[in-house]
Amino acid sequence: MLEKRHLEFREKIRAFALEKIEPVAATLDAEQRFLDEHIKPMTDMGLLSMLIPEQYGGKPTDTLSYTIAVEELSRVCGSTGITVAAHNSLGTFPVLKFGTEDQRKRYLPRAAQGGLMAFGLTEPDAGSDAGGTRTMARRDGSNWILNGSKCWITSATKAFATIASARTSEDPADKRITCFILEKEWPGYAVGKKENKLGLRGSDTAFLHFDDLKVPVENQLGEVGQGFKQMLITLDGGRISIGAMALGLGQGAFDCALKYAADRVQFGKPIADNQAIQHRLADMATELEAARLMCYEASMLKDSGKPFGHFSAMTKLYASEVATRAAVSAMTVLGSIGYYTGKYPVERIWRDVKLCEIGEGTSEIQRLVIARELLKSLKKV
Ligand SMILES: Cc1cc2nc3c(=O)[nH]c(=O)nc-3n(C[C@H](O)[C@H](O)[C@H](O)COP(=O)(O)OP(=O)(O)OC[C@H]3O[C@@H](n4cnc5c(N)ncnc54)[C@H](O)[C@@H]3O)c2cc1C
Repeated sequence: MLEKRHLEFREKIRAFALEKIEPVAATLDAEQRFLDEHIKPMTDMGLLSMLIPEQYGGKPTDTLSYTIAVEELSRVCGSTGITVAAHNSLGTFPVLKFGTEDQRKRYLPRAAQGGLMAFGLTEPDAGSDAGGTRTMARRDGSNWILNGSKCWITSATKAFATIASARTSEDPADKRITCFILEKEWPGYAVGKKENKLGLRGSDTAFLHFDDLKVPVENQLGEVGQGFKQMLITLDGGRISIGAMALGLGQGAFDCALKYAADRVQFGKPIADNQAIQHRLADMATELEAARLMCYEASMLKDSGKPFGHFSAMTKLYASEVATRAAVSAMTVLGSIGYYTGKYPVERIWRDVKLCEIGEGTSEIQRLVIARELLKSLKKV
């Protein structure tokens, strides 16, 4: 399915991931340490500017290459995978897609140089119901004044800028949302403490608090009231990268289980000689391959300019559930050593992969998105 250039690209990213990231992935997780030392090499390889055009300093690729990159990084380290995915899909994409030329010139070159960008949609009282945003933006002359909080924001303590949503009307009946580009250094912008998470412990997740944060009107993203639509369009693309992240994590679990099953001897023979283990491995490999085809198809659909939103929801839903099953299955194959920390990555993958069923819309929300599209087509008949 992949062309030579994509196969070569995969080899390049895989070699980098194995040489530089895999050796420290367990330590980043155990010490909850952010991958600071990988930002420069990833920047040099263009992994932080994959969606940014050359005129803004990026090294743009097609979506398929981007998907392959997130898959390969996540195969050895979920924390690296989510950091790269959030920066590209959620941080830089909205500026490119909805920003003015001035905004692109001000933010994209810095992002391409390794300055991380974040995406603030989720709030304590607005998760799946992201349209229920409570953060308020009040117009004051040539500024907006923002008040509110965002939670569970990837790269929040590291990002120099965040795309954030807010309601722009005091009228409770007026639920229109507008997006803004916010800078970390501005007075009134505060970052909470880094969260202690079950998985993806090397990634940086924190609250953001806006307290009379003065935002110049030049930092309003697009038209007033267009923010919710912008966020949904952004998530359509982001979900492909979460699918890729899940795929990489699931593949990492499978790789480990396959090798272990061949090496581990019980009852005088490798456990892989048992049909029960073989069936388990066969199911994992088959499901992961199907998820891979969906991730690649979704990427190509996006690049073709055709509608891809409901297919990206299907991709994320399927890939994340398959990968979660693969992690559980791998732990079964490894037995106790899989449950222990330190020797094999399976327990880390098992903790990391669950996020793929939650972030950028839970599996339940993906099913709603998919069903809505199915029913819409029925109504047209
Ligand atoms: C590691 C991590 C990183 C994240 N990074 C970001 C980020 O960078 N930016 C950002 O904005 N957010 C981020 N998030 C937040 C994430 O996107 C939200 O947590 C997610 O959308 C779910 O929201 P919630 O946790 O409030 O769950 P809730 O909305 O409270 O849902 C709780 C449960 O109810 C179910 N549910 C809710 N509504 C329905 C319904 N209508 N029908 C059926 N079931 C329903 C959900 O599926 C879920 O099972 C991150 C989260 C984590 C854990």
